[in-house]
Amino acid sequence: MGHIKLTNVKKSFGAVDVIHDVNLEIEDGEFVVFVGPSGCGKSTLLRMIAGLDRPTSGDLAIDGKVVNTVPAADRGLAMVFQSYALYPHMSVRQNLAFGLENTRMPKDEIAARIAEAARMLEIEAYLDRRPGQLSGGQRQRVAIGRAIVRRPVAFLLDEPLSNLDAELRGSTRAELAALHARLAATMIYVTHDQVEAMTLADRIVVLRAGRIEQVGTPLDLYNRPANRFVAGFIGSPH
Ligand code: ADP
Ligand code: MG
Repeated sequence: MGHIKLTNVKKSFGAVDVIHDVNLEIEDGEFVVFVGPSGCGKSTLLRMIAGLDRPTSGDLAIDGKVVNTVPAADRGLAMVFQSYALYPHMSVRQNLAFGLENTRMPKDEIAARIAEAARMLEIEAYLDRRPGQLSGGQRQRVAIGRAIVRRPVAFLLDEPLSNLDAELRGSTRAELAALHARLAATMIYVTHDQVEAMTLADRIVVLRAGRIEQVGTPLDLYNRPANRFVAGFIGSPH
C-alpha cells in the first residue's frame, strides 16, 4: 500500500504548459521530497496526486490502479497544507473528527483514533481549544493529526513548515521524521528548502520549470549532481 506511479504526466493551464512530462515511481513507505524553485510545479504535481487537479494527459496510479478519475476523497491519501486549513469555529477535537464523521465510522473508533493521534503529536492538552487559541506550531500539529486519523496510505505535505519560525521548523522537522518511521506510510513532501530536503528524504526529486532534473538519494545528489542546476540547488561543491 502507498505505491504511487506517474506515467507521462502533463499539466497545462490554458496555453501554458506547467508540468511537461513527468515519470516517477514512489515506493511504499518511501519519504520522497519534491524540491525546486518557486513556480517550478511542485504544488501542481502534488495536487494532481491528491486528486485536487487533473492531469491534462498521462496516468496516475496508486497501488497499481489508475486513479485519474477517482475523486480525492476516495484515493486513500491525506494532504497537509502550509496554511493549516483548520476550521476556526471548531475545537481541535472536532477538527480531527471532521473527515471521519462523514464515513459512518463508529463513534468509539473515531475517539480512539483522535486519542492516538493526539498522543503521538502531544496535543492532548489542547483538544478542547479552538485553533485561534493555539500557536503556529500547535496548529500545524493539529493539521498533521487530521491527516493521521484517516490512516492514509500516503501523506502529501505541501511546505508544511514554512509558516513556522526557524527553531520550531527544526524541531517539527525532527518530529516528522520520527512520525514517518513510526507510521511506515509513504510521504511526499514539497519544499523549496534544501536543508529540509537533505535531512528528511529517502529520495529527492529536483524539479525545474515543470521537468524532473534528477531523482536520487540526498547523498547521490550531493556526490553526483546531474548538472549545475542540481549542484547549485543542493549546495553540492561538485
Ligand atoms: P510551486 O509549488 O513549485 O511554487 P506551482 O505548482 O504552484 O509551483 O505552480 C507552477 C506554475 O503553474 C506557476 O507558473 C503557476 O503560476 C502556475 N499555476 C499554478 N496553478 C495555476 C492555476 N490554477 N491556473 C493557472 N496557472 C497556475
Ligand atoms: Mg507550491
